[in-house]
Amino acid sequence: MDDVLTGLLRPKGIAIVGASATPGKIGHTVVKNLIDGGYQDGIYPINPTADEIIGLKVYKSVLDVPEQIDAAVITIPAKFVLDAIKECGEKGVKGLIVFTSGFSEVGDSKLEEEVVKLANSYGMRVLGPNIVGTLSNSDKLNASFAPFLPLEGTASLITQSGALLIAIDAITYTRRIGFDKLISIGNMSDVNIADTVGWLNTDENTKCITLYIEGLKNGRRFIEECTKAKKPIVALKAGVSEHGAIAAASHTGSLAGAQKIYSAAFEQAGVIQATDLSDLFDCTLALSLQPPMHGDNLLIITNGGGVGVLATDSAETAGLPLKFAPEPVQEEFKKHMPSYGSAKNPVDLTGMAGNDWYFDSTKFAYAHDWVDGLVVLYCETAITNPMEIAKAVHRAIKETGIIDKPVTISFVGGERCDKAMQWLVENGIPAYNDPDLAVKAMGTLRDYAKLQDLKDIPISNDHQVDKKAALDIIAKVRADGRTGLTEIEAKEIFSVYGLPVVSTTLATSEDEAVSQAEALGYPIVMKIVSPDILHKSDAGGVKVNIKDEAGVREAYQTILKSAKAYKAEADIHGILVQEMAPWGTETIVGSVNDTTFGPTVMFGLGGIFVEVLKDVVFRVAPISDKEAAMMLEAIRGAPILDGVRGEAPRDKKVLAQVLSKYAHMINDLGEHIQESDANPILVYEEGEGVAVVDARIILKD
Ligand code: ADP
Ligand code: MG
Repeated sequence: MDDVLTGLLRPKGIAIVGASATPGKIGHTVVKNLIDGGYQDGIYPINPTADEIIGLKVYKSVLDVPEQIDAAVITIPAKFVLDAIKECGEKGVKGLIVFTSGFSEVGDSKLEEEVVKLANSYGMRVLGPNIVGTLSNSDKLNASFAPFLPLEGTASLITQSGALLIAIDAITYTRRIGFDKLISIGNMSDVNIADTVGWLNTDENTKCITLYIEGLKNGRRFIEECTKAKKPIVALKAGVSEHGAIAAASHTGSLAGAQKIYSAAFEQAGVIQATDLSDLFDCTLALSLQPPMHGDNLLIITNGGGVGVLATDSAETAGLPLKFAPEPVQEEFKKHMPSYGSAKNPVDLTGMAGNDWYFDSTKFAYAHDWVDGLVVLYCETAITNPMEIAKAVHRAIKETGIIDKPVTISFVGGERCDKAMQWLVENGIPAYNDPDLAVKAMGTLRDYAKLQDLKDIPISNDHQVDKKAALDIIAKVRADGRTGLTEIEAKEIFSVYGLPVVSTTLATSEDEAVSQAEALGYPIVMKIVSPDILHKSDAGGVKVNIKDEAGVREAYQTILKSAKAYKAEADIHGILVQEMAPWGTETIVGSVNDTTFGPTVMFGLGGIFVEVLKDVVFRVAPISDKEAAMMLEAIRGAPILDGVRGEAPRDKKVLAQVLSKYAHMINDLGEHIQESDANPILVYEEGEGVAVVDARIILKD
């Protein structure tokens, strides 16, 4: 546990620098909120002119306070902040909670940097600036603008939006979702989301970490901290629009969007991604109250056919398609329902179901080994009392003594159902007013378990590579004043990293091309080699299936002519003579160096799949072979690789290895490469491997 962050987020003693006796002022509100929240470890208002604020003794400086102060709330204007920080440093304060705005969010990064530098020089950490504060139920700490502590619970929130913190604080009561901590992270000048996730992972009162993210500063550290976390993390990423390298030179660049890369990073880090604010609450409720679901067998109990059918549909969408329970399980259920009920799955107890039937079937189902997760549905009826049903279900669950299997609930009905669900949530069972949400929550608990399993796959770094050879090529290109590599240079680097590129030579005369072609054996492919022509086909720079000497001579001339017509001033290195690869399924592998996450890797099928459907998947590099194999399955067009319409299955094993080697290359050379792709990689039948026929690398400026 990081003691400095503990001092900041669970302080023993807190000073308010800029405390005010005037109601309505920030420096007044924070003092009032601390008092109202019931904080007991010492509140010290600091103000050179006042004597008393809301009954508390005021000090002229933190240095005048005899007791220990772990955290200081800073509410004074930006220009006075530095002097106050010096005094806090001398006092031995651990963390600064800087509410003040007027820093980098309005363009003044210099002052913000000075604040952090000065604070760090005393060993202090800075939360903010530009925040609404931090709250902790277990410490009765409300060091914020928010008027009250949230409903007590086990989730903790980190948010980049202060306004949202205050809104969520209020929502915790209406949605009955309990939080222990609410942390406003603001400009993240020093303490960032990764630091806070790391700290919350060690916080005994936090069981689920809930994130509202607008933009991360260091994506790789975030992935690292989340991967280490032993608790569920759910994140809502705002801002779905495309970003960054829009004017991308490679295909991959134009396909990479912030959202795609964030989603990939979340998955790799084991983070559940919420789709919207409502979903963020629904996921938080499930993840903070229930254990993960460790198998695919979902059982649904209902008293209404309609909600049962709806839930069955939802189960499919949530990735948990229902299976019929085994015969003996069905036989047992039949004992708790009329003859016209259904013991299959959903188990339909019928509208006649009362407290006892719910109790017996819930207890039996929850305790049964076949069941990995249980959803209990209830439609309000004239003959039952929702609260009694809720209590019967709750008692049934508790009596089994099981704690490592998830259960979620949905009651559909009026006010009485709402009250019953509120009671259930307060007693540890997530309840939703729509069967779809109860099933979706179960899907989230299943996803969480699966993501945890993935985290355990190590990334092998035993690729034997002569990195220096690759760096030499890059240095040569740089010396030439270029950032774009020719196909032949890119392929040399690909080869260093063990990628199976087709044999290629460079010819600078017609005669040379002929002798190279004869040495390779016909048919061959010829292409223009010019750093000024990165998309060779567009310039008429590619001729395939050349079968003889006459063809080579003709292609040599036409390619040169078209290239010059395309770009008169193009610097032409020569013509490339290349082995012609047989036809195979076209795939594309690529990479962009993302501003937040660094080198990424992309996979898709070639042709219309990538051009029109944009059916591609991203990961942050590097990746394990297993993860590469999963990327092949993650696109919609995945079945194509298994062979469609009588075609033989493709060599996915080699393709996955090539993908992971490519990712290793991109990561290893991440300092230099901005964008790259292998478009296409031709994939052959199982056992026949793949051929990389084109290679592109663009260096960072
Ligand atoms: P560019 O993408 O710069 O236009 P490519 O090298 O990808 O140029 O060539 C264009 C197309 O020609 C490829 O998509 C592929 O279909 C075909 N092609 C290129 N090289 C070969 C090769 N060595 N063997 C077989 N087909 C090739
Ligand atoms: Mg190409």
